[in-house]
Parts: sequence; structure tokens; C-alpha cells
Amino acid sequence: MIQSLRGMRDIAGREARIFQWIEERARYFFELYGYREIKLPVMERTELFSRGIGDESDIVQKEMYTFEDRKGRSVTLRPEGTAGVVRHYIENGFDKRDPLKKFYYSGAMFRYERPQKGRYRQFYQFGVEAFGMESPLIDADTIAMLVDYFRDIGIESPLVKVNNIGCPGCRPDYNRALQGYLRNHEERLCPDCRKRIETNPLRVLDCKRESCRKVVADSPDIADFLCDSCRSYDEEFQKLLSARKIPFERDRFLVRGLDYYVKTVFEIHGGEGAQNALMGGGRYDGLVEALGGQPVPGFGFAIGVDRLASLLMETSLFEDDPGKLFMVWNLEEQALLLEKCDILRKCGVSVDFLPDKRSFSNQLKYAHRQGYRHVVILGEEEALSEQIHLKNMETGDETYVSPYDIIEHLI
Ligand code: AMP
Repeated sequence: MIQSLRGMRDIAGREARIFQWIEERARYFFELYGYREIKLPVMERTELFSRGIGDESDIVQKEMYTFEDRKGRSVTLRPEGTAGVVRHYIENGFDKRDPLKKFYYSGAMFRYERPQKGRYRQFYQFGVEAFGMESPLIDADTIAMLVDYFRDIGIESPLVKVNNIGCPGCRPDYNRALQGYLRNHEERLCPDCRKRIETNPLRVLDCKRESCRKVVADSPDIADFLCDSCRSYDEEFQKLLSARKIPFERDRFLVRGLDYYVKTVFEIHGGEGAQNALMGGGRYDGLVEALGGQPVPGFGFAIGVDRLASLLMETSLFEDDPGKLFMVWNLEEQALLLEKCDILRKCGVSVDFLPDKRSFSNQLKYAHRQGYRHVVILGEEEALSEQIHLKNMETGDETYVSPYDIIEHLI
């Protein structure tokens, strides 16, 4: 037997239907807010990611699926979506002639991580990127879209955590203050954070280790270092979130590790006390330039679909197939079965049946095992009627209804 690769899994059954549903709803909201779809290759030149994500990052250092193609060129399976969107944007010259663009993408990402629950080597994300717009309006509007989306799929109290991590004008001052503080407490930090003091001190702020968390609790706050432009940007941004009635709180330990992130960074959590963020994003005004384009501002986020789906599986907020029917049939003339199915399908109802002849009770048992809540009974008598003979599998009730009204009886 040939097995799937470690960390790569099949998504099927109820989980596949949840994936499909949350993606459909995401598309609906993204389109509603003016984002347009882009489908990107899963493989790109390696340097796109090493430059776009940063050579120092864990992803580039140890998690990429990188190999040589048949001509000896180094290629990489995409570990995230943003770099590819930026490549598309620059390759088409939008940065020079048509900078205002809003994209969304969805698809498989690949990272060579140690697989565990909720962490896979092939996983799925969807995300958006807005280019050419440097305004708290776009940050607040996009976050409001996400909150509306999460509520729509049944996450009742999404909590937005926000922070402003400054810009190339004011962050160096903060970095120096933070480094000074961290050097004084170096012996209490984990080995990774000790290295980060010099390479990327901001990242120490979001280390999950208890000892590091204690150290950073008394570290300098970036809010005290923001320049006037970042401060007024942040004030306007928070004002807009409040006006739009988006529940948020400031988390001064929330950072994005890469240099090109500026000003707004944010995460959304499933609710008060929820451990893991459902997603994260922020403003990356330096990225397009870092990848060879003009200095165009950007804002975006990525949602991990696997984790969102598993949350919805556990909390069973998802109504599994409320409108699907199974046809239990016994007819001499098989064409009549197809005719009835056709009528129901034209009315927008999903219908299935077993193609081999079996007894009614055998077909009913099958429908029960498959979890159908309603079946249609189709014998010689029903075949002559305009009405549909509907049976509720949970209550046992049977009714005769017009196919045009049937949806109301299924919900
Ligand atoms: P990141 O691109 O690292 O900021 O991650 C964005 C989201 O993608 C996270 O919130 C996770 O839900 C999801 N994610 C990242 N890595 C993995 C993985 N290896 N397996 C499953 N989901 C992941």
C-alpha cells in the first residue's frame, strides 16, 4: 500500500464540506469588500521567498520545500501567499502605472515543519493584499470585513488584537531601547531570544516561553516611541474601528517579525481567552520595494483554513447538508427515476440514489447510514403524481409536497 507523505493529509467527508463552506463565505465577503481573486502558481523561484519572507526567518532557514528543477534552477513550493501576489503585482508593472489593487487568493501552502495537531506540511490559507493604499481606512475596513466574516461562519465573539509597530523613522529608536533592556536580562531569555536581541529584538516580544514573557512584561512600550505620523495613523485607525463597532484591544506584545512590516499589525482570536489566533496580518509598506518594485504601501492578512475548519468541526456550528435528499425507488421504468431527480435538481435540491435495484428497507438503511435526514419515496404510484412523497428520517413523518416547495420542508 502506498501511503501519503508525512504531514500531508487528505481532506474528505464533513471536513471537506466545512472547507468548502468557509471558503465560499470568505469569497463572498472578499468580493463584497472589493477584493478580486488571483490564482497563483504553487511553485516559484526560491529567491522570491528568501527575499520576500527574509533570510533570517524560520520559514526560509528550515521550512521550505526547495529543490532543483531539471535545468538545475532552484525552485520552492510556496510557503505562503503574499510573496507570489507581490511578484505578480511588480511583474505586471502595477507599481508604476496602476498602483491601487486589491487581491485575494486561496490555496495550498507547504512548510517542512514537524507535523502535529493543527500543523501540517501541506496546509491551506486564504488571504488578501491591498496595494497602493496608505490609509487607516483600508486597515479598519479590511479588519471589519474579517470580523463580519467570522461572525457569519458562527464565531460569535471574535476579538481583534491590534498594535502599531512604528515605521523606519521611529522603530530604530525603539529597537535600541528594547535591545538595551533585553541585554540587561539576557540570562533569563531562551537561547533563541538571546540571538534575537541582535538580529530581530521585536520578535522577543512574542516569544511564547514563560521565562521570556516575564522578561518582556517590563520592557519599554513602543507606544512611547512612535513618531507623530505613526501616532496619528494609529489614533485614526482605532477611532475607525470603534465607530464601526469592532471589538478590539491593544496588545503591545503583538509584532510581526519582518522588517518590512510597519504601523498596523493585528490578529483575530476566537474570543476572550482563546489561545490561538485565527489569523494574523498587517501593513507591509516596504515589501514591494524589497522585491524590486517601487515603494508602494501594502496591507494584508492570511487565514489558516485547516485550523479554522477544525475549530468549526469541534464546535459543530456547521449544519451538515440540511438540504440534501436521497431517493428510495422501485420502478419498472428507470427513466422515470431520472426524470424525478431532474425536476428536484432543477428546484435546487441535491438528490442522490443507488443505481442498483434493492429493497426499500435496504435503501432506507443505506440512507440512514449516510446521515440523510430526508428521503423521497418513489414507487409506481408516486411516479404518476406531481407531488413528492417525502419522509423525515428523524421523526418518521411522511408528507406529499410540490417539488417547488420542497426546500422549505428540508430546513
Ligand atoms: P503565517 O503565514 O505563519 O502568519 O500563518 C498564518 C496562519 O496559517 C496561521 O494562523 C495558521 O492558522 C496557519 N498555518 C501556518 N502554518 C501552518 C501549518 N504548518 N499547518 C497548518 N496551518 C498553518
